[in-house]
Amino acid sequence: MRFAASRDAALERLLAFVPRAGRTYAAQRNYDRGPGRHEAVSQLSPYVRHRVVTEAEVLAAVLERHGTTGAAKFVDEVFWRTYWKGWLETHPAAWTRYLRQLDQQRAEMNGDDARRADYERAIAGATGIEPFDAWVRELTSDNYLHNHARMWFASVWIFTLRLPWEVKSQICCNSGSSIA
Ligand SMILES: Cc1cc2nc3c(=O)[nH]c(=O)nc-3n(C[C@H](O)[C@H](O)[C@H](O)COP(=O)(O)OP(=O)(O)OC[C@H]3O[C@@H](n4cnc5c(N)ncnc54)[C@H](O)[C@@H]3O)c2cc1C
Repeated sequence: MRFAASRDAALERLLAFVPRAGRTYAAQRNYDRGPGRHEAVSQLSPYVRHRVVTEAEVLAAVLERHGTTGAAKFVDEVFWRTYWKGWLETHPAAWTRYLRQLDQQRAEMNGDDARRADYERAIAGATGIEPFDAWVRELTSDNYLHNHARMWFASVWIFTLRLPWEVKSQICCNSGSSIA
């Protein structure tokens, strides 16, 4: 498993990434090089998401090595997470609305065989769209996708497959997590 579920593994990943958090991250963070080859980014999101390490710990380690400006791009990205979590906290209706829409979309899909089949093909990674199917395999085996893969994935899901965005979060991984 590429993401061992322990604090030691999280700290080891953080320690290995810190030297690359400056110029390397800023220059290479937008390239998805495929499963097992994501060294240009931290791959810390599963650990941050499950609170195995916190944003404060990650930032402290990076700032100690690079100072306040040397890893500005990486610091920005961590703060994006804090920003949207904070936004959700101050807009709780957005979450309840999402849950309502999710129920509605599920019910509509269950009453439409063709739509249901499209959805089943998508979550099985059997659409015939090669990169999309590969991302489904990566997501279900590693519980991780590169930031750019998440953008392309969402785009194919919504504009090519014409599936409702709400049900995308239902793709579950071995560890029980999901992409939202
Ligand atoms: C369609 C879509 C869905 C996404 N779904 C999720 C999700 O369910 N959970 C989640 O944590 N992130 C999500 N992201 C944000 C981002 O893609 C992941 O956090 C990132 O890919 C994690 O990889 P990393 O730890 O190697 O990131 P790095 O590039 O190393 O970034 C370090 C940390 O900064 C934060 N971060 C980085 N990029 C973003 C971003 N674009 N928005 C918010 N925070 C960011 C994360 O905490 C990340 O661990 C999504 C992005 C998109 C475009």
